[in-house]
Amino acid sequence: MQLNLPAGAAFVLDRLTQGGYQAYIVGGCVRDALLGREPKDWDVCTSALPEEMQRVFADCHVIETGLKHGTLTVMVDHEPYEVTTFRVDGEYTDHRHPDEVIFVSDVVEDLARRDFTVNAMAWHPDSGLVDAFGGREDLRQGVIRCVGEAERRFDEDALRILRALRFASVYGFDIEAETARAIHSLKDTLHGVAAERIRVELAKLLCGQGVGRILREYSDVIFAIMPALAPMEGFEQHTPYHAFDVWEHTVQSVEKVPPTEVLRLTMLLHDSGKPAAFTMDADGIGHAWGHQGISVNIARDILTGLKVDNATLERVLLLVKHHDDAFAPDRRAMLRLLNRFGEENLRLLLHVHRADESAKGRREQAEIDAMVDELTDSLEAIIAQKPCVTLKDMAVNGRDLMAAGVPKGRAVGAMLAWLLEQLIEEKLPNEKEALLTAALAQMEKMDICHR
Ligand code: ATP
Ligand code: MG
Repeated sequence: MQLNLPAGAAFVLDRLTQGGYQAYIVGGCVRDALLGREPKDWDVCTSALPEEMQRVFADCHVIETGLKHGTLTVMVDHEPYEVTTFRVDGEYTDHRHPDEVIFVSDVVEDLARRDFTVNAMAWHPDSGLVDAFGGREDLRQGVIRCVGEAERRFDEDALRILRALRFASVYGFDIEAETARAIHSLKDTLHGVAAERIRVELAKLLCGQGVGRILREYSDVIFAIMPALAPMEGFEQHTPYHAFDVWEHTVQSVEKVPPTEVLRLTMLLHDSGKPAAFTMDADGIGHAWGHQGISVNIARDILTGLKVDNATLERVLLLVKHHDDAFAPDRRAMLRLLNRFGEENLRLLLHVHRADESAKGRREQAEIDAMVDELTDSLEAIIAQKPCVTLKDMAVNGRDLMAAGVPKGRAVGAMLAWLLEQLIEEKLPNEKEALLTAALAQMEKMDICHR
């Protein structure tokens, strides 16, 4: 069996082999290469001890990434290659980090410490694949299975629970029955895992092709990390606008937005306030007035808890808050929306709108697509004309106004705002002379004194 190694990885393997050590590419890169996917990074494992690796790569640029754990990064043509001594993990007392690592001489022992069979393969161009746990067959079958006893492996490191869901989602794989059972039974140990790690895995999980299935079959795990979402499951909406309960609607809306972290988190959280906002009228029709604001609060709590960066946080909260806004394709309305949200957010809001509408399960997809396509086309046509929708697009600024005689102080700001309003309403062209003339005329009207 041959894999296409990049020259840098081949160099690292060659050097180690020539030094008399065993060396393989290992883990995620073997998995991805066998799947025909481009690996993100090429990791190497070797029988060489850390100080032996240092000698082998003495003339290379190396970074001591984690020498205590046996890891060294070798730079080849500005690309990093992580090289790690074969090792097994010592005891785990905190469900996450081994208390110590022990270097070993057998690659199979190193593979045995890895999480899933599909991640526990090693490969060398001469000796071929080392596959002691049936990883290749599981890849063929599309199965995520723990190496060894599932319960024990998740008990050692709870992050593996989310990694299992993430790989199943990203590759559209099944989770083997014993592994699945252990995931459900140990989900609460996820509480001890660092928020940053959860966030990374959750983002990948949400962006995977199999996300819908994972959110349905492992909702209990999702709710273990985000308990505020649990009331959505099975929550009937009692409205002609929705065919599904809140969770099923949520899951379908997640599947229907493009796979970016911001959009997928937005859909996951957009209706989280519905159970709390729910009321039923005398006709037995359900309403969720004001759920957007409650969803924003729930989303803020969850995302700050996950230590999401501010840009992502602000964007998701904005999209959650406005997910239910009404949009019209007319030009005036679009210009106002552009002023309010900006191009990028407005594009995202239209994605949210499409997914939310189609996940309600009541209208024909073609009808929804036609409606949102019209909005999108109208928006893009307007953006292409570079309309003036913010103060910084305007052909005059405060200094120009003052030079023309608008008195310094509050009048300048008020006049800029008035001019922008006229521009958004398209009552004036965005030209300096015209704007200054209009400003002075308006000043007369408002009886603001010239200097
Ligand atoms: P990705 O494509 O996201 O990089 P990956 O499987 O390569 O996925 P890494 O975090 O790069 O993930 O880890 C490299 C390898 O180290 C894995 O393939 C697996 O063999 C092993 N590994 C990583 N994390 C764990 C863990 N928590 N428990 C056991 N083995 C792990
Ligand atoms: Mg990797």
